[in-house]
Amino acid sequence: MEQTLSIIKPDAVAKNVIGKIVDRFESNGLRIASLKKIHLSGADAGKFYEVHAQRPFFGELVEFMTSGPVVVIVLEGENAVAKNRELMGATDPKEAKAGTIRADFAQSIDANAVHGSDSLENAKNEINFFFAGREVL
Ligand code: ATP
Ligand code: MG
Repeated sequence: MEQTLSIIKPDAVAKNVIGKIVDRFESNGLRIASLKKIHLSGADAGKFYEVHAQRPFFGELVEFMTSGPVVVIVLEGENAVAKNRELMGATDPKEAKAGTIRADFAQSIDANAVHGSDSLENAKNEINFFFAGREVL
């Protein structure tokens, strides 16, 4: 059993498709261990994406992630990290396979609907970044 972090990004929240995205997780064997809607500050987004601090798109990424509320979710299930990445599809929605969340709900490489942890170690750190232990059930 693994846990991983998903973020429904501001573009998908603005499109009112939180429920449709959560349904993709639940319909594919993942359970919701925790979920909340928050508006990230610039400091939150900068810290969360600090591995990308030197990349040319970092400023836009922080600006986008703070442009509106997001929904942060702890997903739980067998191979949850890889399963979530598979359901999300490629970073660039133009390259995402048909039927993936990004193919169906994203419009561009920055407004790409969802985030998902890319390793079990990062998943643990990202869950701790957003949730207290008592909030994850
Ligand atoms: P995420 O970390 O959000 O789950 P990812 O793991 O598929 O996405 P990363 O390489 O970690 O992709 O990049 C983090 C985020 O930065 C991407 O989701 C995207 O929003 C943005 N990003 C990545 N590459 C570019 C780019 N070339 N131009 C603009 N934004 C980008
Ligand atoms: Mg990533």
